[in-house]
Amino acid sequence: MTAPRTPADGVLADRYGRVARDLRVSLTDKCNLRCTYCMPAEGLPWLAGPQLLTDDEIVRLVGVAVGRLGVTEVRFTGGEPLIRPGLPGIVSAVAALTPRPRISVTTNGIGLARLAPALRAAGLDRVNVSLDTLDPARFATLTRRDRHADVLAGLAGAAEAGLTPVKINAVLMRGVNDDEAPTLLRFALAHGYELRFIEQMPLDAQHGWDRSTMVTADEILAALRSEFALRPDPAERGAAPAETWLVDDGPARVGVIASVTRPFCGDCDRTRLTADGQVRNCLFATEESDLRAALRGGADDDELARRWRAAMWGKRAGHGIDDPTFLQPARPMSAIGG
Ligand code: SAM
Ligand code: SF4
Repeated sequence: MTAPRTPADGVLADRYGRVARDLRVSLTDKCNLRCTYCMPAEGLPWLAGPQLLTDDEIVRLVGVAVGRLGVTEVRFTGGEPLIRPGLPGIVSAVAALTPRPRISVTTNGIGLARLAPALRAAGLDRVNVSLDTLDPARFATLTRRDRHADVLAGLAGAAEAGLTPVKINAVLMRGVNDDEAPTLLRFALAHGYELRFIEQMPLDAQHGWDRSTMVTADEILAALRSEFALRPDPAERGAAPAETWLVDDGPARVGVIASVTRPFCGDCDRTRLTADGQVRNCLFATEESDLRAALRGGADDDELARRWRAAMWGKRAGHGIDDPTFLQPARPMSAIGG
């Protein structure tokens, strides 16, 4: 039997039958916070200006993904995407693509109160805001910046601007904020935000992740059940990374993204573009495909699409975090785009 070859046209398929419809675009590797599970206090050696895709280059590549490769969801992330000055213009250009993709942003929420109306007007559909604690002092320790009030204002501003449902992403760390699961859920329910916990992953720049101390999905669920009745959400999960539960019989829900203890690689529908124009077929990929060089070298859209398909065809079956041969990718989460 001959091995199947990379498809010459069509969607972003891989050899395991998965199709990528959800594109995560990192707009910058820089950030105005320094979350301890993400990057060191001093920051990182940031990408230099010419290495970054320009706004037009980003829109061109997203256009190839949407127009030729079947991508239907585009999420802007980073680093911190709100610090990219061209964000509203990028959103509005992507919203003008045909067929129009759904557009969302993952942000730490700083500056969102001010930006939310313009982003909504540009065509942004939804936001995910990261908030790991309701205690301002803990927030300052965890993110090394005293900006808790800005994040709360950002959440409120997003809801007011109609960027709904507003979702909150929370990472729990043992001995830091792992006592806050029910408190965070109470807060989310009171404000109509949808809360999702993310298991901490080995993607920090400092390589400090430790499987034996990470807070697991089972622990998070047990903590929530001390105060709330949780029932598995009957809605179809599809390729969503979050497993969801109805809280006290619904309609409110809470989710857990258990990338480590309950991997969902078999249903993954994601493809990623870094701020310097590299396609990654997985958060944990150790190889990238350089679309920036192709684009700046004069490749046409057909050629860019061909390279993107080839990059996805090589996607591995799973991330292999539990494999003895697992290697943490060279780039941290902040540079890949979370
Ligand atoms: N700066 C934005 C933010 O914080 O939302 C977007 C980028 S950030 C890398 C995206 C998401 O990844 C955030 O929700 C953050 O909490 C999460 N994250 C960062 N490092 C992580 C890690 N090591 N394990 C799990 N989640 C992580
Ligand atoms: Fe910045 Fe987001 Fe990383 Fe925190 S998790 S340091 S907000 S990129």
